[in-house]
Amino acid sequence: MSDSKGRLLLVEDEPSIGETLQFNLESEGFEVDWKRDGLTAFDALVADANRYDAVILDLMLPHLNGFEILARIRPLAERLPILVLSARSLDSDKVKALELGADDYVTKPFSLNELLLRAHGIVRRGQWSRENLRTTQDSFTLGDAEFSPGSHSVMTAGNEKLKITPTEMLLAKTFANNPGRVLSRQELLETVWQYSSGTETRTVDVFVAKIRRYTDAQGAANSFIETVRGLGYLYNPTPGKAS
Ligand code: CA
Repeated sequence: MSDSKGRLLLVEDEPSIGETLQFNLESEGFEVDWKRDGLTAFDALVADANRYDAVILDLMLPHLNGFEILARIRPLAERLPILVLSARSLDSDKVKALELGADDYVTKPFSLNELLLRAHGIVRRGQWSRENLRTTQDSFTLGDAEFSPGSHSVMTAGNEKLKITPTEMLLAKTFANNPGRVLSRQELLETVWQYSSGTETRTVDVFVAKIRRYTDAQGAANSFIETVRGLGYLYNPTPGKAS
């Protein structure tokens, strides 16, 4: 147990998927706490969210679904990494889960290798961000927003103080560290989400949209985070002018 890769809360009501995931995640060195319905999982998180390094959360669950869990747990545990399993191929559901505070998602049916890659990524990133954000107490500016890693918060362009997740903080920090440089979605996945995957870039787009809501004044003509078509995103400290 001393060389555990981390403790996961697995929330999955389908026995065959739950068993397969538990077996393979434990083979990878994780400790796995498997809950079979939403309410039991929610109770475990309310009792002590800090004992988990990450949550793997199915969306369609008995008693309390994954969306409801996200909406209720995120305000209580903004630092907990959450990977959503979505049986739905509907884009709007993935976006909704990310908006509610999920860090990433995998669509069922998924390849086991892909899921394990994501699980390692989300736990590594959580551990990395805990260490890094703890030692990086210094606030930094991105656009018109002021980010404070020490308090997990941002003072937005609209002067609203909000709690944000480590994923959002790391993405903001990555842009702040690279003004004027085009960052590809692939590069952002590797830096912020700690994995590289050929196809899943929608997650990056949803998170960039979140960051823009912090950095840009409402109704601003140009975003500080520019979309560079076909390439990725670029932080331009003086939007509207060439960076
Ligand atoms: Ca289910």
